[in-house]
Amino acid sequence: MKKLARTPMSKQDPKERIHNFSEVALGYDEKSAVIEAERCLGCPNPQCVKGCPVGVDIPAFIRYIKQRKFAEAIHTVKEKNSLPAICGRVCPQEVQCQEQCVLGRAKGDPTSIGGLERFVADWELRNGVGVPSKIASNGARVAVIGSGPSGLTVAADLAKLGYEIMIFEALHIPGGVLVYGIPEFRLPKKIVEAEVRYVEKLGATIKTDVMIGKLHTIEDLFNDGFDAVFIGTGAGLPQFMKIPGENLGGVYSANEFLIRVNLMAGYAFPSYDTPIRVGKKVAVIGGGNVAMDSARSALRLGAEEVAVIYRRSREEMPARREELENAEEEGIELELLTNPSRFIGDAHGCVGGIECIRMQLGEPDESGRRRPTPVKGSEFKMDMDTVIVAIGRYPNPLIQATTPQLKTTKWGTLIVDPATGRTSMDGAYAGGDIVTGEATVISAMGAGKIAARSIHDFLTRKTHIARQ
Ligand code: FAD
Ligand code: SF4
Repeated sequence: MKKLARTPMSKQDPKERIHNFSEVALGYDEKSAVIEAERCLGCPNPQCVKGCPVGVDIPAFIRYIKQRKFAEAIHTVKEKNSLPAICGRVCPQEVQCQEQCVLGRAKGDPTSIGGLERFVADWELRNGVGVPSKIASNGARVAVIGSGPSGLTVAADLAKLGYEIMIFEALHIPGGVLVYGIPEFRLPKKIVEAEVRYVEKLGATIKTDVMIGKLHTIEDLFNDGFDAVFIGTGAGLPQFMKIPGENLGGVYSANEFLIRVNLMAGYAFPSYDTPIRVGKKVAVIGGGNVAMDSARSALRLGAEEVAVIYRRSREEMPARREELENAEEEGIELELLTNPSRFIGDAHGCVGGIECIRMQLGEPDESGRRRPTPVKGSEFKMDMDTVIVAIGRYPNPLIQATTPQLKTTKWGTLIVDPATGRTSMDGAYAGGDIVTGEATVISAMGAGKIAARSIHDFLTRKTHIARQ
């Protein structure tokens, strides 16, 4: 008889973790990983795989864990997923593979596929990372713009096929949102660094501090001899509320706040001399992962009270349930069905409060969620000395602005053929947030896999034609 309840994963105590940036979830040890793996039914028609955008053979890797063959388990995962320690930590498995898991549907908890993926990936990082033997170069060169999960996936998959890969990254550290957005307490920088190193070991070269679209355009890359280009530049442009007072001191976009915490090591002050000002009473506007990360970072940086202001109800919050629960355990308050109407300044030009209005839910809107509408006469004021706006991000616009051949939507995302990732420019492919708008790590990786396959088909055909 299979045990129905999931094996719990230990976590740092909320009372302690709010004072540090160390990882909250501590992962399975060998014993608990094997116990959890034994819950998996090894289904002949595994529904979990259908929910995995990169197609990992989930029952096979879990079977190896049951047999304590951890090297074989991670090898199986890496056949499809080059960033397993990252995915095991931040992918929304609860709405992907685990949502489909037969165990979950039979009224128990689904197998903790993410927890097991993280376990084998961490096991490999501790025991030495295996790299497939180097494939001889096939002579074709591919440029990858952006080193987030989509770009890293394209690079890894094509490097394994013998392509010469050059990744161009605008920032000084590779990893995209994985390093500049998601905080240390959810995804340690050393984990991202190790998985980026793996992609380099497969043969990809990374050039940091290179912004494509400024000094070098996509045309230049083709003229320099690249045979194909992948655009994975993400959605890093913050959206604002466009309400009075947004320019007051102490009002941050979540992007600026998290970049200063993560990339400029604000979290490591005083070891790094880059402090970030966080007041005593912090309001975070928004209900997604970015809002939760901002709120929990502010708490760790010394805020006494942190409230998340969201215009819908808890059920509609797009943040991962696990992270919402972690935030609540840490004492983050939720101010639900509430929307700010203006930020109020103090005598020094800094924010001192927020005027808000209560909301009620009406009929579903185009996103399928019930539309929030203001409740007349329900205005009230909250005293706050810091505000972090986390209501969404637009696609990075530079490449589109300097490459007229690329067709875009009215939101500035790139238009591609979803089956291939092909853009309107010959030889240029795209995927991840720059195509979908802000989404998830695993969907960006899935798009990277599709594009890698298409680039391979395109270049195989092109080379074949050239040889005739
Ligand atoms: P990105 O990760 O954005 O990477 C794009 C890269 O391209 C960046 O490094 C950027 O510097 C570079 N670039 C941009 N323009 C240029 C240029 N012109 N030239 C060269 N380089 C350029 N998803 C989850 O699945 N789970 C989570 O828990 C989660 N939490 C999140 C928390 C935060 C704070 C944020 C911001 C996002 C979160 N997401 C989460 C979303 C997820 O991180 C993104 O969907 C994913 O990173 C998108 O990957 P990407 O490769 O498309 O782009
Ligand atoms: Fe195991 Fe669930 Fe996948 Fe079945 S659906 S193989 S129980 S993880």
